[in-house]
Parts: sequence; structure tokens; C-alpha cells
Amino acid sequence: MATSNAITSETDAHIVDVLRHRIGKDEPAAKLHDWYKASILALRDTVVDRWIDSTRRTYEEGGKRVYYLSMEFLIGRLLRDTLSNLGMTEEMTQALESHGLNLADLEELEPDAALGNGGLGRLAACFMESLATLDIPAHGYGIRYVNGMFRQRIDEGWQVELPETWLAHGNPWEFERLESTYRIGFGGEVVADGDSVVWHAAEEVEATAIDTPVVGWRGKRVNTLRLWTATAVDPLKLDAFNAGDHAGALADQVRADALVRVLYPADSHQAGQELRLRQEYFFSAASIQDIVRRHVLHHGDIRTLPDKAAIQLNDTHPAVAVAELMRVLVDLHGLEFNDAWAITQATVSYTNHTLLPEALESWPLPLFERLLPRHMQIIYAINSRVLREAHRAGLDEAAIAAISLIDENGERRVRMANLAFTGGHSVNGVAALHTELMKKTVFADLHKLYPDRINNKTNGVTPRRWLQQCNPGLTAAIKDAIGPDFLDDAEKLSALNALADDSALGERIAQVKRANKVALSDHIKQTMGLRLDPDAMFDVQIKRIHEYKRQLLNLIETVALYDQIRSHPERDWVPRVKIFAGKAASSYHNAKLIIKLTNDIARRINADPSVGGLLKVLFVPNYNVSMAERIIPAADLSEQISTAGMEASGTGNMKFALNGALTIGTLDGANIEIKDRVGDENIVIFGLTAEEVAARRANGYDPRELIENSLELSQAVSAIASGVFSPDDPHRYVDLMAGIYEHDWFMVAADFDGYTQAQRAVDLRWQDQLGWRATALRNIANVGWFSSDRTIGEYAKDIWKVM
Ligand SMILES: *Cc1c(COP(=O)(O)O)cnc(C)c1O
Repeated sequence: MATSNAITSETDAHIVDVLRHRIGKDEPAAKLHDWYKASILALRDTVVDRWIDSTRRTYEEGGKRVYYLSMEFLIGRLLRDTLSNLGMTEEMTQALESHGLNLADLEELEPDAALGNGGLGRLAACFMESLATLDIPAHGYGIRYVNGMFRQRIDEGWQVELPETWLAHGNPWEFERLESTYRIGFGGEVVADGDSVVWHAAEEVEATAIDTPVVGWRGKRVNTLRLWTATAVDPLKLDAFNAGDHAGALADQVRADALVRVLYPADSHQAGQELRLRQEYFFSAASIQDIVRRHVLHHGDIRTLPDKAAIQLNDTHPAVAVAELMRVLVDLHGLEFNDAWAITQATVSYTNHTLLPEALESWPLPLFERLLPRHMQIIYAINSRVLREAHRAGLDEAAIAAISLIDENGERRVRMANLAFTGGHSVNGVAALHTELMKKTVFADLHKLYPDRINNKTNGVTPRRWLQQCNPGLTAAIKDAIGPDFLDDAEKLSALNALADDSALGERIAQVKRANKVALSDHIKQTMGLRLDPDAMFDVQIKRIHEYKRQLLNLIETVALYDQIRSHPERDWVPRVKIFAGKAASSYHNAKLIIKLTNDIARRINADPSVGGLLKVLFVPNYNVSMAERIIPAADLSEQISTAGMEASGTGNMKFALNGALTIGTLDGANIEIKDRVGDENIVIFGLTAEEVAARRANGYDPRELIENSLELSQAVSAIASGVFSPDDPHRYVDLMAGIYEHDWFMVAADFDGYTQAQRAVDLRWQDQLGWRATALRNIANVGWFSSDRTIGEYAKDIWKVM
């Protein structure tokens, strides 16, 4: 006790010192926000000591480093994560209490770093934490967006997009590294100069590193998240300014600012598309220059790069890094093309995240050539090499056309996935099914040419954030039951299997779940004014809004259930709260309409006394990491109902199961592997398989007939289409529902009956609360494998060769 008090008072003295000397306030003058900043800065001092130790150790060991290039890092808040990973939560709590402050209040002041859109960005954040946990030297490389992903507000049920101002009060975690600044060129021309070529860029901006430390579990290692910000080479043209052209004098800086302003600028027009490609090149080129500079500084010979660096491309957004590395090796380091190609392939690897053809990135050739003329030449050179290999392998013309880095159908385009595939030694999918489908669909021909390149690395989530920090009650219950080993190895959660029928543990976990539901209900009451019954089943679908994720299937079933409850009030209905959240891409009309439909349905059902306490629907605005941390521990049912074959992996599914929710889902993405681990009896599966979906599409699928044969479905669809939920605009959903009648690309009709039956099976299970508890426990016990530590371990061994 004495030592713990001593540590607490040391922490306390440190915070007060920071408050005085770095914030410039004494205790009586300090506002809550000053304490918040002082606490983070004091904590950061501890982090920095370990960070410097880690960096020193990496230099001394001279080993290989991992570089994770990603357009998104959806890291969320860092205060609780950092305290927990350093084992300092208790002493910080006490230090703050001595000033009458509550740690939870300070945590609420931290903005979410919204530098990502969804699963892909959150995966990058989980990976950074696991890399540090596994003591692997690594840098994450991305963009420090000033506004990032938009903040979502709901006005009259509609999504409204606002700039996310997460940096408004500064960011106490980060360090600007002015010495790590690089020139990034765009446009201009390429001229021959004797044997070599020189790219004279028409325009240059400077990329400057801003570093955030990433602390691993138990603070063993602190790695670096290096995000690039942009400045004009000449931020203020003083001559122009003095001549009275005040705006023109600042134009270059405005142009540079635009590069780091938002994630995914609208690309429905040429200027937006160009900005997006500029962003991709900007951060990829800065990262490659940084990696090469570090290598040459510490190891001298550029040819040993593959021994010291593994570059992972998170999707195709940084694929231009392949061409940039080639340019640096050939043009700046004077290597032969063949040698440069061997080095590039040995260093780079690529993760594919989607099979949706519309999401496979490609750029109009004229735009690419105008912006990156030297890279265009390099891509042609790579392409002729790849096509030669394809000819030699005896592939037919159709296969060769599919392999080409240039899409010759219609307007010629540069295919970024083919560049990423050919430019590295490994291409991985993110769940077993997804990887198999990659081999059969998008990359079928590339797979024939390079049969050893595709491999699977099923996604994972960090159990620190997604169990320990978001659900301390459950963590404590597990620790009391099986001891603390699972904290260091999530697969040790399997010890819970022996206790699946232990009624005391079942009871305790049920109490934890209820407390989490009460806490969520309080939050919803405060923020939305809606009263929820914590004894109802919390049925949750939170994720980006997309037709393939099928929020519509859930909504139509909700409407059908509403009809059923009203027609048969005497039945023993299970009370449910249907919780939705998620952002719709700003240019995605149907996704925005689905948000409005959710709110229209919620308004009607929540106001109908005839279903009273049995059904409530709500759409929680501005889904982000902090919201997920609040909702997931309170969920009873996890909706993972995508059209089979379309969700590459999903990671939300893993977080829910880890927190003891039952999954209702299709045989898609990682759901299949979750089922394999928790057992068929502990998950509710329905619907077509990926093969059946493909077969129906190929053989002429007729949704109209299906709808007409299902009374429940046709009534629900007609009710929505005829304006029952939108009396102010009865035609609002006519087109949305017509889409289901006419083509139903996402097979809502085909899966509807299976889904309703599965939901009624869920009701039956709920009525057996002891059985439900045992299932929840089996889920928690058997999903430790979905820790991102396991995933990163596989990348490290199979792809990066660092373990
Ligand atoms: C986990 C997570 C996701 C991914 O969810 P899916 O259900 O796998 O699509 C998206 N956004 C946030 C904030 C998350 O935490």
C-alpha cells in the first residue's frame, strides 16, 4: 500500500507540475480541460521514456522493421488505452481523485481520432497495438487529416455531414518532426539525361511527419504512428502579398492544406478524383522516402532493403508505393530495372479487402499520366514484363487482358489492385472464404500466373480495447473465474469452457451485461431522450450503412414483427430494442435513404402504444470507435447479415462475440470461422451460401415471385412503399422498395424467410435464460483466436519474416 501511495503521489506531483509549467495554470485556475491536457502530457512523459528505449533497442538490434501503409487509422481515444496498457489506470484514478476529479470525466473530453471510415481503418489501429504488444518494431504510415471522416448529425431523420474538428483544442499526444520533411512532386515532365531519366515535377509540396506513440500491452514496446501533414514549399508569396494579391499569395498553402483536409473527398467530379489520387501519392511517396532514408542511414546498402524492411499495403490506396519505390531505386539509386523489381517484390506485400468490382480502384490513364508522368512510364515497364511472363506461361488472350495493369476496355485506366498484386511477394485475403473467392473471382488469372502468392490472414481485434477496456466488468468476472492468464493470451479464454454450466458465473456475467445495458440506456436517455428497458433484448446492427450489409433486411423484418405483434398481442413476444448506427458515404443515395427509413420506422413504432414495451427502434447518431465501445458490451444479439460472399471478413462480429453476444448471421466472411470455433449450437445461421448466391445470380433470380409468395414480406414491403412510415412524403421509399422487386441485387427477398425464422429461434432461446447465458459464455470462451495478436503473429511469420 505504501509503495502504491508513493507512486500515486509521484504521478500527482507530475500532473501538477505539467499543469503549471506546460499549461501555465495553478490548481485554483485550472479548468477540467486543463486537467485533461495535463494528465495526458504527464502520462505521455512516461510513454516517451519507453518509446525512446524501444527505438534505441531497435537500432541496436538492427533487425527488420514492419511498415504498415494505410489511408486510414481509426484509432479512437488513447487515454484509457494507454493507461491500461501501462498498468497505470489505478494510480491515475487516485491522483485525480485527490483533486476531486474523475478519470471517466476526463476520458469523455478526448475527441475520437476519426482518421478512418470503418473496418479497414479500425483493423489498422488494432494491428498497430498488436505489433507493439508482440514487440515487433513497426511504423504505421498514413495521413494526418485535419477533419478526417465527417461527423454525422441526424436532422429530421436525415444524415447531415459536418466536419469533424478533432484537432480544435490541439492534440496532446503528437510530436511534429520538422527534420523529417520531404518534397513530394506532382506533374511536369520526364527528360532523358544520358543513360538515366529525370523527372522535373511541375509542382512540389512538403510532407512533414507528425508522430504518435503506440503503446503495446504491458508497455513492452512503444511503436510509432507517423502521419504526414502538408505544407507549401513557399507558404506565403511575399511579393504577391505586398502587391495586393492577398489570396493569391496564399494559394499554394491552400492547395497543400486540401491534401490533408478530409478522408475520401467526394469523387463524383474530376477535381475530387484528382485530389484523392494526390493524397494517395502524397503519403505513399513520403513514406517510401522515409523508409529508404532510414535504411541507407543505418545499413548503407540499398540492396539489403528486403532484409530490413517489410512494407504492407493496407488495400490498394497506397499501391502507388510500388511504382514510387521503383522510381527511387532506379532513378535516384541507379539500380537496374530488374534488380529494383526484385527488391521491390521482396519488400512489399498487399492485403485485399473487397471483392466488390466497383471498389477495385482504378484511375483514368490521362489523369494518372498528367499527375505522375514518371510513374506511368514505370507502370508500363512493369506491365510489359508481367505480360511477357503471362505469354510465356501460355495464358490465353482473355487471361492476359485481365492480368494487365492497364484496363483497355473503354476509357483506359490504371488498375491499382494489379499493380499491388504484381509488385509484391504476398497477397492476402482477410478471412478464409474471402481468400478462396479472391482466387476464383477478381484475381483468378493473376492467381494462375502466380499460384503461390495468395494466402489468408483472418482478421482479428485487439482484446485490450475490445474486452478489457470497453468491458471492465466482464474482464473482472473472467479473471475471478479462470485467473489472469487470458490477459496476455486471449486464447486462454478457453478455460471458461469448463465453467459453461457454472450457474454462479453465468449469473455474474448476466449481471455485468445488465449493468452495461443500464449504462447504455442512461446514455441514450441523456443524449436522445429515449427510454429503453434494460431487460429487453438489445438487438444491434452497427456498421457502415451499405446495401450489401443489409440493414434493409433487418428493417423489413422489424416492420413484419411490428405487424405480427399488433395482430397477435396475446402471444408471448420477447421485448426487443433494435439498435442501429452507422455512417453512409456522402454520395451514396440509397444508404442515406436507409438511415431515413430507420428513423421513420423508429418514430412510428416508438410512438405506438399498442406495441408498448415490446419493440423499440433507435438510430444512434455518429457511430465511431467510442460509440462502439459503449454499445458492444451492452449487446445481446449481434446482427451480421450481409449477402453471403460480400463481407470480406467483418471485425464487428468478433467484438460482439468476445463480449458475450449471440450472433445471428449468414455464412459470410469471418462469421464462418466464428461458427467453427463457437460451435453450431452457439450461433444462429441462416440464408444462402456464397455459392448459392452466385448460382442464383447466374440463373436469373426472380425476387417478385418470392415476395408474392411470402405474405409477411409482401405486406412489410408494401407498407414501406405505400408511405405508412412516411406520411409526410408517401413516395419516399417507392424506388427503394422497387429495387427489391425488380432486381434485389443483395438477395433480401431470398433470405427473408430464413431470417424471420432465425429471429423467432432467437426469441425461443431468449426465453430460456439459463441456456442463453451458457451460449454467451461459450462465445466468450472460444473467440480468443480472433485476437489481432494471432493475426499479426501470422503476418510476422509468413509474410514479413520477422518472427
Ligand atoms: C469494428 C468497427 C467497424 C467494423 O465493423 P463491421 O461490422 O465489421 O463492418 C467499423 N467501425 C467501427 C467504429 C468499429 O469499431
